[in-house]
Amino acid sequence: MSQLERRKIKEITTPAGILPHSSVSISGAELLHELAGYLKPEDVSQLQSAYLFSQEAHSGQYRESGEPYISHPLAVTSILGRMHLDTQTLTAALLHDVMEDTHVSKSEISDQFGKSVADLVDGVSKLDKIEFQTHADAQAENFRKMLLAMARDVRVVLIKLADRLHNMRTLDARSPEKRKRTARETMEIYAPIANRLGLNNFYQELQELSFQYLFPTRYKVLTKATKAVRGNRREVLKKILDGIRQCLHEAEINAEVNGREKQLYSIYKKMVEKHLTFSEIFDIYGFRVVVKDIPSCYVALGALHSLYNPIPGKFKDYIAIPKENGYQSLHSTLLGPYGMPIEMQIRTDEMHRIAEAGVASHWLYKSSDSDLNSNLNDMHLRTHQWLQGLLETLSDSNDSVEFLEHLKVDLFPGEVYVCTPQGKILALPRDSTAVDFAYAVHTDIGNCCVAVKINGENASLRTKLRSGDRVEIITSPHAEPNPAWLTYVLTGKARSHIRHFLKTMQSEESAEFGRRLLNQALLSFNVNPDTLNAAQWQKLARESGAKSKKELLKDMGLGKHLPAVVAKRLAKPEKTASRKSKTSDAISILGTEGLVVQFAKCCHPIPGDHIVGLIKKNHGLLIHIHDCPSIVKNRKNMNSWLDLTWSQDIARLFEANIKMVVANQRGVLARVAASIAEDDSNIDNISMVGDGAHNTLDFTLQVSNRQHLAQLMRGLRQIREVTRITRVKG
Ligand code: MN
Repeated sequence: MSQLERRKIKEITTPAGILPHSSVSISGAELLHELAGYLKPEDVSQLQSAYLFSQEAHSGQYRESGEPYISHPLAVTSILGRMHLDTQTLTAALLHDVMEDTHVSKSEISDQFGKSVADLVDGVSKLDKIEFQTHADAQAENFRKMLLAMARDVRVVLIKLADRLHNMRTLDARSPEKRKRTARETMEIYAPIANRLGLNNFYQELQELSFQYLFPTRYKVLTKATKAVRGNRREVLKKILDGIRQCLHEAEINAEVNGREKQLYSIYKKMVEKHLTFSEIFDIYGFRVVVKDIPSCYVALGALHSLYNPIPGKFKDYIAIPKENGYQSLHSTLLGPYGMPIEMQIRTDEMHRIAEAGVASHWLYKSSDSDLNSNLNDMHLRTHQWLQGLLETLSDSNDSVEFLEHLKVDLFPGEVYVCTPQGKILALPRDSTAVDFAYAVHTDIGNCCVAVKINGENASLRTKLRSGDRVEIITSPHAEPNPAWLTYVLTGKARSHIRHFLKTMQSEESAEFGRRLLNQALLSFNVNPDTLNAAQWQKLARESGAKSKKELLKDMGLGKHLPAVVAKRLAKPEKTASRKSKTSDAISILGTEGLVVQFAKCCHPIPGDHIVGLIKKNHGLLIHIHDCPSIVKNRKNMNSWLDLTWSQDIARLFEANIKMVVANQRGVLARVAASIAEDDSNIDNISMVGDGAHNTLDFTLQVSNRQHLAQLMRGLRQIREVTRITRVKG
C-alpha cells in the first residue's frame, strides 16, 4: 500500500474534530503556551495568575484518579481554549471549582479577576449544586435552573459542558454506580443541550462516552465488530472515496472529501430502532464533501447522484431549511458498490464550521468576513430567541414535570416542514398539530383559529401535520382558544399562549361560578345575598384571606374555600341551627361555566344523569355521575361532595361513550355512521377491534342529553348487524 493510500484510509478511520484529544492531561505551562497562540500577552498573564490562584486554592486536593485536582480545571480550560473562547470564560474555567470546593468567596474572585469572571464562576457553581435525581419533579426543577443560567449567559453552559466532558473522559476512576448515574444524566441532559446549541463535537463525544458507560458490554461488542468490518471493507471504502474525488474533479468542483466512521451509539440506536443485527447495518461510513459556495453544493449533489443512485426518500435539504440549531447541509444516501448505502453530507466551508462548533463558532470564527459574521450573529440571535421562548414557557407553567415534557420536545426535535398558503416554510416538532402551526405563524392566528384546511381539504384542528403539508388556518375574529387544545398541542409557544389566555378568562369565570356557589350556600342559611352591603363583603373577604370581594368569589369558584364555610360566617347564629339540606340547595350546572367546571373523563356525565361534584383545590368543580365507579371508593368523604342538578336551559353538546358489537359485514360502519348522523349527532372518535366475525366499536358521540342518547341508541339497534350496544360509564 502506498503512503498516499495509507493516509486516505487513516482519514476514514479517525473522526475529525476541534476538541483536543481526550485522555492526555495538560500541564499549566502547556496550556498557557497553547493559549498564547491566539490570545494577547496581557490575557495570557491574567490566565497565568488565575492558574496559580486555582492551584493554590486546590492544593492538597486530589481527584479520584489520584491526580492533583488542578489537572481538572486545566483540562477544562484547554477544551474551551481550542474553541477560542474569550479570556473571561477561560479565567472562569480555571476557577470553576474553587467556590465549590475551597473557601474562596465570590467577592474575592471579583476583586482579583473582575465581576464578569466572578459571575461566570458563580453561575457554574450554582449549576454544580444541581443534583439530578430520578424523580421527575426534581429533574425538571434542575432543568429550569440550567436554562435560566443559559439564558443569562450561554458561556456558563459552555464551561459546564466542558467540565462534564472532562469528567466523562475520566469517569473510569469513579465507582461503577457513580459511572452509571453520571452517564445517564449526560445522555439525558447534557448531550441534548450540546446538540441544541449546535456543539456537535461535544454532543457526539458526550453521547459516545455515555453509551460506553451505560452499556459497557454492548459497547465492547460493537467496537470489536466495527473493527473487524473496517478491515474487510478497507478496499471498498478506498474505492468509493477515490470514486467520489474523481467524480467531483470531472465536474470541476473544488472539494475537500472526507470519510468518517459513524459513532457506535448511532449504529447501536439504529440497530435497536430498526431491529437489525450488526451485520445488517451497512452504512457505518459516511462521507463529507466540503465546497466553497452554495451553488457548488447542488452541483456536487447532482454529480454524486449520477455516480451512484440515490436511495429514494433519503434526500434532505437542510440548506434551504436549516435545522433549529442552525445546522445546514445537503444529506443524501447513495447506493454504493455491493449494495452498500453511503451517507453523504455536502456543505460549504462556513456551514461546516457552524456544524462543528454551533454557538461556539461565534468565538471560534470571529472574522473580518462580514457575510460570515452576519451568519454567526444570526445563529446567536436564533439561539437567544429559542432560550427566550423557553423562558416564557417556564414562567408560565407551574408544573415542572409538564415543563420538562415541553423541553424534551424542543431538545429532541424530529421535525416536520410545512408551508403557509403564501409558500413560507415552517419547521415544527414532529407530531405538531394544526393549532401548533397556527401559533407558530402568529399568536393572533392561534388565538382566533377555528378550522384548518390541509392541502386544500377541511381537517380537524388536532390533525398531526406531515412534512410537505400546505396548511391554511381559518380564523374568526370572535373565536377564543379552547381548553381542549391543551390536550394535544405540542409546542411550548402554543401551550403558553393558550394558558395565558385561559388564565385571564378563568378568573372571570371562576368569580361568576363562585358567586353562584355562594348564593346557593347563603340561601340554605336563609340569607339573601342581595341584602349584603359593601362593608359586610369587605369583612367577609378579609376573614377569608382575600383582598377583595371579587378575589373571594374567584377563590371559591376555584375551590380554595368551601362556600358553606364562608356562608356560615355571614349567617346569623340563631339561623344556623335551622339549616337543612333541601334539594333546592343543589347547585345547577349549565355546562358553560368554562374551566372551573369540568366533566369527568371516566364517566362522561350528560344532562339527565344524576350528578355529584367534587371541589378540587385550585381546579374548580369536577363532575361525575353519582354512581361512577371511580368515586365509589371516595364515598367515605361525603362532605366534600356537592349535590348538583342540571340547569333547565342547557345549550351545549356533551360527549358520551358507547360500545357496540357488530357483525363483521361490508358497509356496516357506513350504516352506523348514517344512523348517527340522522339523529343529529357527531362522531368525535371511533376505535375498532375485531376477531374476524365480530367487531367491537367504541364511539365518542356528541349528544345534548339522555333522551337524545336514548334516541340514538334506539336508532342504532335497528341496524341488523348490531348485536349489542351499551353506554360506557367509567
Ligand atoms: Mn469541575
